[in-house]
Amino acid sequence: MQKSKKVVILGHFGVGKTSLIRRFVSDQFSDKYKVTIGVHITKKVIELSDEDSISMILWDLEGTDTLEQIRDAYLLGTHGVIFVFDISRPSTFQHLNRDLEIVAKKIPQRPLLVIGNKKDLMQEEEVKHILEQNDISYNYLTSAKTGDSVEEAFHDLAILLNDEA
Ligand code: GDP
Ligand code: MG
Repeated sequence: MQKSKKVVILGHFGVGKTSLIRRFVSDQFSDKYKVTIGVHITKKVIELSDEDSISMILWDLEGTDTLEQIRDAYLLGTHGVIFVFDISRPSTFQHLNRDLEIVAKKIPQRPLLVIGNKKDLMQEEEVKHILEQNDISYNYLTSAKTGDSVEEAFHDLAILLNDEA
């Protein structure tokens, strides 16, 4: 059976939301920064087994200064959330726990994956140390640039979504 699931990608400006989707959907990357305006919707089918697949509808929302400013209309019918921060910019994860509370309030009871992106810019040990000190829990450290762990992260979310009703 194929299930269609809406996934929204959230996180501060420039953390790599658009790049992660691009890497996952078309296996490409660009260093040029193009601000997302409005909302970009792309789709990718993830095969989970011979019978089961998830058609993931990825909603790349334009950046807002605060999470509260995200238009509720964009979030209607959301099945899953990916929250991205940039491991090379502490300002994007300093208030992670508070940010995640806001997300959980806006999109209650949905699977949520937390991704620390731009892994290629730092030493893994250093990153882990900093995140631990800041009490940051995450599901994956990725690089949209090299592709490191990108496929795995989206695949894991697909499994979570498939287990939902
Ligand atoms: P968004 O605002 O969250 O959608 O961020 P973008 O995907 O537009 O990326 C912002 C900038 O960071 C762009 O210049 C990207 O090329 C760069 N970028 C995104 N992901 C990575 C990554 O994994 N590694 C590196 N080195 N740069 C990245
Ligand atoms: Mg973007």
